[in-house]
Amino acid sequence: MRSGAGSPARAAAGWRTRRHMTTLSRADTMRAAMESTREFKVVIIGSGPAGCTAALYLSRANLVPVVLEGLQPGGQLTITTEVENYPGFPEGILGPKLMDLMRQQAERFGAVFRMENVDSVNFREHPFQVTTDQRVYETAAVIIASGASAQQLGIPSEKLLQGFGVSYCATCDGFFFKQKEIVVVGGGDSAMEEATFLTKFASKVTIVHRREDLRASKIMQERARSNPKIDFIFNSTVDEVIGAKETGIKALKLRNLVTNEVTELPAQGLFVAIGHTPNTKAYAGQLELDDRGYIMLPHRHSTVTNIQGVFACGDVVDHIYRQAITAAGTGCSAALDCERWLTHTRITERWGLSTGEEEQID
Ligand code: NAP
Repeated sequence: MRSGAGSPARAAAGWRTRRHMTTLSRADTMRAAMESTREFKVVIIGSGPAGCTAALYLSRANLVPVVLEGLQPGGQLTITTEVENYPGFPEGILGPKLMDLMRQQAERFGAVFRMENVDSVNFREHPFQVTTDQRVYETAAVIIASGASAQQLGIPSEKLLQGFGVSYCATCDGFFFKQKEIVVVGGGDSAMEEATFLTKFASKVTIVHRREDLRASKIMQERARSNPKIDFIFNSTVDEVIGAKETGIKALKLRNLVTNEVTELPAQGLFVAIGHTPNTKAYAGQLELDDRGYIMLPHRHSTVTNIQGVFACGDVVDHIYRQAITAAGTGCSAALDCERWLTHTRITERWGLSTGEEEQID
């Protein structure tokens, strides 16, 4: 790892410069023409519970981070309505409101939020470079909290009724469907697990799968098949969700892919369980990803990735729990790991950055 260049005076002032390169690809040319900034010692990518919590902890340690909010500021909670399982809110809280509060709490201590989306990163040299749609950040450390996106069916009525009967998380929303009829779409382990969980609340759960054979493991299939509250409809997809924001869902239009017949199935809830995609495209080839694309953390009790100074937390490393509270917890861990790493390596001193706070930390 090489220490960063630049005079202490310029660095302390948060200097901005333009990078000049001679042999450039098209992407490099665009990057070179962009403003480059070293304002922030830590860049946090993602503004869900993990990113906001990391920002809160870092800003309270006077390591003022910038949070790059991404395409969905606030993350997945912004497409849910009521959140009843986040501790501290006995009456529940709306997902977007919760994220707004998390952001405000981090901003109170100086964290800077910017509506920018990360296009690419360069973790091969230090300072790291994070290129957004607006500028290039050169930074000592990066915390990746870019989350995972639930895959969607892609029909307009699904989008319209997200949070009003359409959900992507049974643990989060199952409670709202007491004695209701629910449809779960998908044929994998998630669909079986969500359907089985939902029978605690629902009067009936119907699993709709696009093929005849389930993809789920035998044990998960058996558990779902032996549950008297669960029915299956095979070879079918959801064509339309019938309902309105004011009234919720009334029914689903299902299409049989073999006969092409369209039928209406009464339902008050639709849970889409067709997989998640971790938001890791920008890191492929630089960070170690598992076979599903999640960032791997090589050390059991650390959020550091295979690259020192790059940390990851939240759903981008977690395909198991995927809860706001678990994401917030690992966001805290990432901030503490990052702070210790910066202190340990004295990277800010090597850069000639302001050291007032680092002296206190030491
Ligand atoms: P998955 O295994 O990829 O299954 C996704 C399912 O959704 C498949 O059945 C697929 O159909 C269907 N699907 C995909 N796109 C669709 C679309 N546009 N319309 C309708 N259906 C669509 O995903 P997963 O179930 O989330 O599981 C992901 C991984 O986590 C797996 O490795 C799984 O074993 C693991 N997991 C484990 C547990 C557990 O052990 N407790 C629980 C949950 C998940 P096709 O089958 O036709 O492709």
